[in-house]
Amino acid sequence: MVRHAITMTVIKMKAYTYIEKGRFELLDKPKPQLKDPKDAIVRVTMSSICSSDLHIKHGNVPRAVPGITLGHEMVGVVEQVGAEVKKVSVGDRVIVNVETFCGECFFCKNGYVNNCTDPNGGWALGCRIDGGQAEYVRVPYADQGLNKIPDGVKDREALFVGDILATGYWAAKISEIKEDDTVLIIGAGPTGLCVLQSVLLKKPKMVIVSETNGHRRAFVILHYPGVEVASPNICLHYCQNALERGGADVVIDCAGGEDTFEMAWKAARPNGIVTVVALYDKPQVLPLPDMYGKNLTFKTGGVDASDCDEILSLIKEGKLNTLPLITHYFPLSRIDEAYKLFENREDKVIKVAIENDTNI
Ligand SMILES: [Zn+2]
Ligand SMILES: [Zn+2]
Repeated sequence: MVRHAITMTVIKMKAYTYIEKGRFELLDKPKPQLKDPKDAIVRVTMSSICSSDLHIKHGNVPRAVPGITLGHEMVGVVEQVGAEVKKVSVGDRVIVNVETFCGECFFCKNGYVNNCTDPNGGWALGCRIDGGQAEYVRVPYADQGLNKIPDGVKDREALFVGDILATGYWAAKISEIKEDDTVLIIGAGPTGLCVLQSVLLKKPKMVIVSETNGHRRAFVILHYPGVEVASPNICLHYCQNALERGGADVVIDCAGGEDTFEMAWKAARPNGIVTVVALYDKPQVLPLPDMYGKNLTFKTGGVDASDCDEILSLIKEGKLNTLPLITHYFPLSRIDEAYKLFENREDKVIKVAIENDTNI
């Protein structure tokens, strides 16, 4: 009888859960188990809240499954690995990739991991399968979905590598930035700031940031000297009238606001590149007659988060630093408060880190 009772014991953990549209709750759930030889179980040390989580809350992510644990931006320690996992071992400190990808299909082999053809390929964690705003997370295809954090890099310094920093890095990469370019970044929210840091690595001639919020403009001025920052109207006017090529060579829209797509193509010079990183809730108009002859190239995201090792090396070398973006820390037990603060943009919040109670 005693032995039977022990084997039936289910280890519980706290997990922040999508109940229904408009309702998230911190629940007790069973600790995740390995389901596949390619899986790993990660003890989450720190996670974060992303604006995509808010999109789920507001019912704007139709593929999000009620009942799943939220969270797709996290770091932790490998606690258990399946028999076919080769790249990471128990005890490794790791970042978890927002994308789940097999590493073997056409898209994975070409670096387009967001479009992996596996049934769970793309953004699955915290959307279609249980994510990391919890004490533990099961990571499928662990050899692809986990990257070791180099010695000397703290968990908090690596927190954004698997999602918003991967997004920023990818956006800068696909935007074909050259050293005599002027780059306009629309939006200095968390992703916009990661785009900004990644764009600066390309050393363009001029970087302009358009941001409506005065606190965020001040943040850019404080942390990124040499970057021009202004409100949208001023930026658009400047790009169209003061730049010798009649617009920015590259425009990256990280805002996804009411008018930002229109601003993006209007601020671009003829033959320029417009990269849309923002996740729009609504369709946008592409007014082809108005832009006829401008010969723009448009690029759009979902991130292909396939450069995480490179990003971690750049953090170790001091070339990327997202630590100032973490303006608030909360324990998992107070994640409701953290969401409220993040969603309402209280107290000049940029990003919130959720620390697991047991690890503080
Ligand atoms: Zn995200
Ligand atoms: Zn694949």
